Amino acid sequence: MKIRILLGFLIMTSICGWSQVVSVPTLDSLVLSSFEEGKIHKVWLSLGDDGFANPIQVPVLIAKGSNEGKVLGLTAAIHGNELNGIAIIQKVFASLDAAQMKGTIIAIPGLNSLAIANQRREFVDQQDLNRLFPGKENGNRSQQMAFQIGKKIIPLFDYHIDLHTASFGRENTLYGRGDMQDETLSIMIRILEPDIIVSNKGEASFGEASGLTLRAFAMKKGVKSITVEYGNPQVFQKEMIDRGVVGIQNLLKWLDFVKGEAKIPPAKNVCSRSYWLFTKKGGYLEVHVSLNQVVKKGELLATLRNPFGEVVEEYFAPESGIVIGKSTNPVNISGGRIIHLGVLESRP
Ligand SMILES: [Zn+2]
Repeated sequence: MKIRILLGFLIMTSICGWSQVVSVPTLDSLVLSSFEEGKIHKVWLSLGDDGFANPIQVPVLIAKGSNEGKVLGLTAAIHGNELNGIAIIQKVFASLDAAQMKGTIIAIPGLNSLAIANQRREFVDQQDLNRLFPGKENGNRSQQMAFQIGKKIIPLFDYHIDLHTASFGRENTLYGRGDMQDETLSIMIRILEPDIIVSNKGEASFGEASGLTLRAFAMKKGVKSITVEYGNPQVFQKEMIDRGVVGIQNLLKWLDFVKGEAKIPPAKNVCSRSYWLFTKKGGYLEVHVSLNQVVKKGELLATLRNPFGEVVEEYFAPESGIVIGKSTNPVNISGGRIIHLGVLESRP
């Protein structure tokens, strides 16, 4: 019997491999001075409690270089189905040597941890966390979560990149959002080499009941913040992840966290505004245009058909622009998304 157990154990360990069991501490706040210089630290940060009276934990990676220098924050998956940024952060950290670094990089590879575990976009109460900042200390579930993020994480940063992707049923180019009138933000975005840049201050209101995005909240707190969308939801896309890693590694040079010369490419496809086009009717939608495609005013974008294959409606470009994102889900009711159209500052 004992031999059988031993054999089973050996087989299991040879299948699974040995993994080093390291206990990761759970902290209630991040006090940067308490982390040793020249090392990478892993901690769980507690942002409230779950239904078993355990902490709602988010993973935090801290690369602590020398104390001189600034703090860069990287946050991924505030929408729980937006995963490429998690892999980008993990790979960037795997390439870091904190002993050679100046300043501190704090990364949260999985900000909306409950939603990630449930393979959902929204927080547990179906709310979009990225519309709720600054949140409320004594508010409802998602308001308290936004408040905790705003209180315990964002004020630590000097610079910030919020990593997103498209949501379910859609796909995105690699595109950045930030205020291109601000010189620092403009260079930060350019170094990350997005296909398209949508320039705005990120203060768009989402209606009376809504609050700010994480980016707009960070900017209000004096943090130089941009948002970058890396492709598609609920997948790890190698191309997007590789481009994300190279871009952030370049940015670390420009911000002087690591040694080396940063390449600052010119801004490409800068849009002064962008918006989604929606279907008026319901049916099966076929989108004819591709990501990054430049479209002319009046160009056919999509066709909607009924279950018998008859054309219900056709949708045309209301103005010239570039395709930032598009629907990949053919099934639409009235108000289904068609494409995310960017209006270029200078027409090609
Ligand atoms: Zn998102």
